[in-house]
Formats: sequence, C-alpha cells, structure tokens
Amino acid sequence: MAREHLIKPLVGHSYPVISHGKGVYLYDKAGKRYIDGSSGAITAGIGHGVPEIIAAMTKQAEQVAFVYRSQFTSEAAENLARKLADLAPGDMNWTFFVNSGTEATETAMKLAIQHYQEKGKKGKQKILSRWMSYHGITIGALSMSGHPLRRQRFVPLLEDYPSVSPPYCYRCPFHSSYPSCGVACAHELERVIEKVGADHIAAFIAEPIIGAAGGAITPPDGYYEQIRSICDAHDILFIADEVMTGLGRTGAMFAMEHWGVQPDIVALGKGMTAGYTPMAATMASDRVMEPIINGSRSVMSGHTFSANPLSAAVSLAVLEYIEKHGLVQEAAQKGAYLLEKLQSIQQNSHIIADVRGKGLLLGMELYSIPSARLLQIAADKGLLLYPAVAGRSGRDETALLIAPPLTITKDEMDELLEILQESILELE
Ligand code: PLP
Repeated sequence: MAREHLIKPLVGHSYPVISHGKGVYLYDKAGKRYIDGSSGAITAGIGHGVPEIIAAMTKQAEQVAFVYRSQFTSEAAENLARKLADLAPGDMNWTFFVNSGTEATETAMKLAIQHYQEKGKKGKQKILSRWMSYHGITIGALSMSGHPLRRQRFVPLLEDYPSVSPPYCYRCPFHSSYPSCGVACAHELERVIEKVGADHIAAFIAEPIIGAAGGAITPPDGYYEQIRSICDAHDILFIADEVMTGLGRTGAMFAMEHWGVQPDIVALGKGMTAGYTPMAATMASDRVMEPIINGSRSVMSGHTFSANPLSAAVSLAVLEYIEKHGLVQEAAQKGAYLLEKLQSIQQNSHIIADVRGKGLLLGMELYSIPSARLLQIAADKGLLLYPAVAGRSGRDETALLIAPPLTITKDEMDELLEILQESILELE
C-alpha cells in the first residue's frame, strides 16, 4: 500500500474517495451512491454541482480571485455585505468576513470585548456560554465551547466560559418540565452573571438550536426572550452563533427569528457558501459598531483570505439561489414532513429516545446506543448522517443530525426515511 500523507480524521482508516456529487447525492470512485442526509457537516445546503454557483465561481475567478483586504475592496465583498444586511433582521448592518465558523465566533468574541474597551469599560473581558455547545476549534472558540470531548486535551489552555445549563427539555438539568419550570435554564444565566460580576462580562454566546453538541436541541418558547432581557439588564451583548442554523436551514433566514429576538452579534458560516468555497462572517449591529467607528475605527482581527472576492461571489450566488427557489419556506415545509415521519418511526422503535429540531435541522437521540453504530449501518446502505452529543454527561455521541440539502425532493426524503428505518431496524 502507498504511504499515507494526508492526516484524515482517523489516520489509517480507509475512507471512500468521492468522485463527484449531483444534487443530494454523492458518488464514490467505486461507483457507490450516497444520499447526503446531513449536507456533509450541515453545509451543502443547496446540494452538489449547482450550475449557477459554478458559473458565478468561474466568472469571478476569471476577473480576480484574490485581493488583500487592507489594500483593496471588491464589488463581490461589498455586495455580499449589503445583501447580508438586507437579509438580517434589525440593524445588523455590518459584516466582517472570515473563512470558517470558528473564526466567525472568535471574531464575535473579540468584537464584543473591543466594543466595551472603546466605551471605556475595559474590565468586560469574559464571555459566558452554555454547556452542550460548540462554537469552534481554536483555543478562543474552544474556550467558549461546552463540549467536554473536544476540550479535554487542551483544558489548561482554555478559559472556563461554559457555565450555564443548556435548554435541554428532554433531560431537564433542573428535573422540571416546561412550562411549569418557568424556563429555569434561562434564569440560571442571571445567577451566573451575579456570581462572575457583570463588570467582567462582555457577552453571552449561544447556538439558537444546539447542533453537534446536542442533536438539534431546541429551546422552549420564552427562553430567548428571557436571555435577551437578562443580557440587557446587565449590559451584556448577546451573540447568536448561527454558523449551523443561519441562512434558511431552520425554516427562517436567521433561526433567532423563530423567537423574534434580536441578537447584537451573529456568527455565520457553513450554508453561507453551501460548501462551494470556505467563507464565514461575523455580523454586528449599529449599536455594537458605534463606539469602534467613533473610536479606533478598526476591528482588531482579520485573516489573509478574509473577504476574498471568489468566496464572496460564491456566497452571493448561493443566497440568490436560496431566495430564487424559496428554499427558506421549503426548509420549513420539508422539515415539518420529515419531523412527522421521524416521530412515527420513533413510536415503533425501542432505540429512539427523542426526536426534535426545526426546519431541516432535525435530531434524533438514542437510548444509550452510540450513534456511530447507526451512522455506519446507514452509510453502508448509502445514507449519510451526522453524529451529535446527547445525554447528561455531554460526552457521549448518542444523537445524530438529519439535515439534508434544502433542495431535497419528496421522493428523496422518502428514500432517506426508508434507509433510516431499515438501519434502525437492524439495531432494534
Ligand atoms: N459554531 C457552530 C454552531 C458550529 O456548528 C460549528 C461547526 O460545526 C462551528 C461554530 C465551527 O465552524 P467551523 O467548523 O467552520 O470552524
């Protein structure tokens, strides 16, 4: 066997080689077809091989693929920032482009700290976050992530930002139930703020719907309203990490719109370019940017590839495609259909504990079976799904995400369900 040079997730493991993709399907070199039931890592939101995106990519590459952001701007980056401001609710008028969701949340963290520095509140340096959360893999983003498995090797380097319980109704951390709980999980934020001291806290960060660290845990109504008012009462910014949920995935352009709650800073990634090229973004409201614009005028962050015109053109084409095909509404409708079918699979199953989520970000929690087992059986049958953490310890991957491209058809959804049901039966 030839020597291995590429460090893959598991060194020495033999991964199928993909030859091409079309729509919701991926094809490997051995000729096997997979239905992309998780859009990769909840990324390929409009499916593979879309000609409009390839055309936009080619056109931009022919004009110019790269310019450095401290020397030039580009029409593509300017137009994309304007488009995002149009799509975002409220006065979320400013965008800083980065290359990954991790960079987007880390920039959000720095922006919140800088906002207060420029207002003369230099002590506000900490970020609060929840357990059962994932905000990215660099030291700063991992510091905010309540994901014990991904933290454990680096704990001495990390800040202890995760300090608030997740809104995990299926296994309520307060052994209570909604609505008589009075949304105790949201009120816990207030107790943590009082303990740490609001003068030390710049922001609270949360995923509107918890993805890989919870298997589509969806907070009950009233939760984010409480979070918003607690943040306001203590002069703390609210960062919505919409890297997984943003741009249509949950059946709303931004998932926070489901609760009508306006964040101060939003992190975007994944579906923003639907995986065609890497790009992510940190969006900020006028209020957040004001002290910076009237102060240093410079956000202290940035990467070589930030705002590169090629990715910006791709993202613009993806957003146009989403709008042209009404994919946000489709995600809501298709998600409702899939959720109902998953609930009926659950009723006849001994291994499915819970089914949850919104739009086409759906999750399934298993009764103490590692989801890797189900994922492997499904993959062998040609269905790709995504593992997620569940359970009280926050360590065990016993959940999975079902999040196909928003373009999936009814027949394709039925095919996905059939393979999933057959795979579940093998574990019953
Ligand atoms: N935030 C959330 C909610 C995510 O789901 C992810 C990735 O899964 C990230 C941040 C990190 O994004 P990336 O892997 O692009 O760095």
